[in-house]
Amino acid sequence: MWKIRILEELGNVRRALRKLRIAFFHLVLFSILTSFIGGLILSTKALSPVSNIIGLANEIEASVLSRRLPHPGVDDEIGRLVDTLNHMLARIEASFEAMKRFTSDASHELRSPLATIRNTVDVTLSRPRSGEEKDAALQSIGEEVDRIRTLVDDLLLLARADAGRMVMQMKPVSLAFLLEAQVDAHQARAQARDMRLELGALLPDEILGDERWLLQVVGNLLDNAIKYTPVGGTITVDMARTAEVLRFSVSDTGPGIPEDELERVFERFFRSDPSRSRGHVPGLGLGLAIASWVVQEHLGTIQASNRPEGGATFTVSLPLAQPHT
Ligand code: ADP
Repeated sequence: MWKIRILEELGNVRRALRKLRIAFFHLVLFSILTSFIGGLILSTKALSPVSNIIGLANEIEASVLSRRLPHPGVDDEIGRLVDTLNHMLARIEASFEAMKRFTSDASHELRSPLATIRNTVDVTLSRPRSGEEKDAALQSIGEEVDRIRTLVDDLLLLARADAGRMVMQMKPVSLAFLLEAQVDAHQARAQARDMRLELGALLPDEILGDERWLLQVVGNLLDNAIKYTPVGGTITVDMARTAEVLRFSVSDTGPGIPEDELERVFERFFRSDPSRSRGHVPGLGLGLAIASWVVQEHLGTIQASNRPEGGATFTVSLPLAQPHT
């Protein structure tokens, strides 16, 4: 009697267990399916801004570099990615614009001496000329050819510098020696314009640098000081030192530089309004761009400022070969 009852109850339990197993199996299947579909929906939704970004990024070409990717409005990973890409686009746009301006300025600068040469040749050939007139024409052509040669040399130098093909030969250099050499080399020109060119106290410290290029920096600054300062002015070259850097400055008593141009003077082809300086001062607007590149290669800084009493000062700071502790 008891035996039969137990068997009967066990049969119920087995049936219940089988139902439970089937229910469990369906539940697992359902969970797998819903998480798969849910995951698919979620990932598609989460990645849709990325697909939008890819689509828009593909539409941005060199001609429309001013376009930016729309920000999703939240500061999550996608928002930060859009910010990063937009900053990158802004940098590409800026260098693309600079390159375009550089090319158009360079061709303009080349075109004007070529036009002058063409004009001189045409005028000279338009009727028979005396020997003197022909000499004058050749002289003028020679000056324009020099202008073109200087421009082409400077352009090649900057192009090589941009391509990273200019290698500095760094070794310990006495800055005082370079300043003395360039001040001596410029004395005759300064005297011809009735100017005083003075060199202050010299410091014996050395910097790690390329002598040839540093001479060019000092030379460019002195050339400018002589060019832009009116006859009878004074140019002063001074040295100073901190624990880490050696500094030199070239100051003049010329017209100075407008405040909003103090940084722009280092841009390629930048030239101040000619009406500010005495008449037409020859130049191509590349000297300070080259000086700035050389100083950067030496891990130094170059700065333009105005003296309170009038005139410009250019200050170059270069790391000492052996910093003072
Ligand atoms: P460039 O002298 O051939 O024009 P630079 O690159 O040497 O080119 O100088 C850029 C501009 O900076 C000059 O055209 C001039 O307007 C300004 N500048 C440079 N040096 C001086 C200075 N000592 N005093 C006043 N302006 C200066």
